[in-house]
Amino acid sequence: METLQQSPFSNDQYTVGWICALPIELAVAKGTLDEEHGAPQTPTAEADQNAYLLGRVGNFKVVVACLPNDQISSVSAAVVAGDIVSTFPKIRIGLLVGIGAGIPDEDNDSRLGDVVFSSDKESGGVVVYDFGKRLADGSFQRISILNRPPRSLSSALVQLEAAHMTRETHISHYIDTMLQKHPIMRKAGYRRPAQDTDRLFDAHYQHSAGRTCKGCDPSEEVSREPRQDKYPLWTIATGDSVIKHAPTREELKQTHNAICLEMEASGLMNNFPCLIIGGISDCADSHKNDRWHAYAAAAAAGCAKEVLQYVLPKEVDLASAAKDVLGQGTNFETVR
Ligand SMILES: [Zn+2]
Repeated sequence: METLQQSPFSNDQYTVGWICALPIELAVAKGTLDEEHGAPQTPTAEADQNAYLLGRVGNFKVVVACLPNDQISSVSAAVVAGDIVSTFPKIRIGLLVGIGAGIPDEDNDSRLGDVVFSSDKESGGVVVYDFGKRLADGSFQRISILNRPPRSLSSALVQLEAAHMTRETHISHYIDTMLQKHPIMRKAGYRRPAQDTDRLFDAHYQHSAGRTCKGCDPSEEVSREPRQDKYPLWTIATGDSVIKHAPTREELKQTHNAICLEMEASGLMNNFPCLIIGGISDCADSHKNDRWHAYAAAAAAGCAKEVLQYVLPKEVDLASAAKDVLGQGTNFETVR
């Protein structure tokens, strides 16, 4: 039986929190670490329900924290953040790495397997929708715009964006390395699925039946040109509910120019200094299935690793500890 060794490093030597919500997201985080350290030296408080995995990515000692299985919502993301910074008091930046639904359109041509960041040049951050607070006239009662990611991560993103103009991303290389290290993952969809399984249907066309779109009418499919540019940076809309309703998706898109929806981020991004990195796994419509989930999670993890390459350890050291920022709630702006 595999037992988790104890990390040779004390809890206060870890400065980066990598937060995820699903077992596949935890698996790809593990597969992406350059080195695994094992379990925390100082055990967590009893109330702390997070699963932790410690390790190194590039220059950073990283805490991977996974949400408790039964509590996937933005509320638990806030609890997770509180627990993580009390167990690891020197964490300064956070990465929320996982899968989300994309909102495709002619301008923002997002495709399955793309990776999206919570850093948009115009709006500055994340758009939060709350599906439960829908008013009778169909508008959203509460839409909030959250803060930009911390400076060290924003400047790393600029560097990464520039790097991608001169070279390919390292995502596929990182996935290959992960599959070499953990061969059993080769059978589980972590490789990029065939392009013809990325099908987008007209927003008003409902899924016929079954787990795949085999029975769906091909004439309702939106025809899209093959696309070269793979990793655009756009706003993420985030909320507590999974969207499987194309008209709602269209509304979010038009109101907020958002291209990706994330579920777990809203409670965390509120005041934890973090960057959301989301791999697009479906199109937020009734045709939603899980064929692209594993690859989208792996692509997001690879991208997180690439971002960390451009983060300067010095800037991270100079930043305030997340525990001092958490709960201040000063960077939360609500618009209607
Ligand atoms: Zn379908």
